[in-house]
Amino acid sequence: MRIQFLGSGAGTDTPHRAGSSILLTGGGESVLLDCGPRAYDRLVMAGVSPASISRIFLSHLHPDHVLGLASFVQAMTFPYGHLPLEIQGPPGTAAYARQAVGTAALVTGMPGRGWGEPLEVPVVEIPPGDVREAGPFTVRTEQVPHAPNLVCEARRFEAEGKAVVYSGDTTEAAEVMVPLAEGAAALIHECYSLAGIARWTAAFDERRAAAVRRAFEQTHAEVAYVARVAKEAGAKLLVLTHLNPGERADELLDTARAHYSGPVVIASDGLSLAV
Ligand SMILES: [Zn+2]
Repeated sequence: MRIQFLGSGAGTDTPHRAGSSILLTGGGESVLLDCGPRAYDRLVMAGVSPASISRIFLSHLHPDHVLGLASFVQAMTFPYGHLPLEIQGPPGTAAYARQAVGTAALVTGMPGRGWGEPLEVPVVEIPPGDVREAGPFTVRTEQVPHAPNLVCEARRFEAEGKAVVYSGDTTEAAEVMVPLAEGAAALIHECYSLAGIARWTAAFDERRAAAVRRAFEQTHAEVAYVARVAKEAGAKLLVLTHLNPGERADELLDTARAHYSGPVVIASDGLSLAV
């Protein structure tokens, strides 16, 4: 399988990290995992045609993971005349995806049909614990704890006899992530470090900096914990992503390697990995 990062950033866009979006290719199909802001721009930079993407999986309905959907669908329809076969995501995805696809339809249309005509993309809201086939992939979905009043879903994609696991956004949930990532060829996991947050928020006023740190501590996963999950799961490769602007690769690698002896990769926009 191939993992290609379109966006590897957290909620703050930077020149080098767009919002979360990953292209996963296996069994002859390419699917998109999340569709954050600038995902389509990154796809263009990677020289990949949007017509090659069959399905879109959303982990949760936060802007840094879904806000690119309308522009992505619009770019698929014109000039390619292509739509994803399906969008899958947690509860709430149908309402959001309809809005995004509707926005795309306002400014484009399928070639051969009228401008502004409704575009139809099947949307499936996936309950936690679900296992189903999606093209060549067997996809297992589990709920992870992220933010209040929101379902966030981690997924395991199996094809070609291998598994790739993507955490979505999550705070510590080893009881969910270790079994989900068991023996995975790659575990793609969000992470932060306190040192990274301190650097990122150094210019913020004190109250704002404390609020950002508290938000990350309550809703995201610290890098040492993530590495322990990779170790306990026996994952063959750990890929760290969803990185805030203060993170430094060398620090993240040092911390991760103290807890996990397998290979560790720091995601970057445009990075392509074969597993
Ligand atoms: Zn996020």
